[in-house]
Amino acid sequence: MSAGRHAWSDKVAYERHSDRACWYCGLIKRTRHEAIGPREFHWVEWWRSGERIESVATPPCPGAPVIDGGVSQT
Ligand SMILES: [Zn+2]
Repeated sequence: MSAGRHAWSDKVAYERHSDRACWYCGLIKRTRHEAIGPREFHWVEWWRSGERIESVATPPCPGAPVIDGGVSQT
């Protein structure tokens, strides 16, 4: 599946998370890491326009150009 894929920017690292943004739709993939006691936890959050998106899988990209076939009509 290539439709709906994001074009991620380079990773920008912060102290406790790192962000990548999609050039097309502005979705932010935030990888968080937190040490809780002796354990390290890593998880991913999705953000768009300052609001968190509740999703486990990557939300599809609405802004990516469809270049692989698309809808062909005769
Ligand atoms: Zn996108």
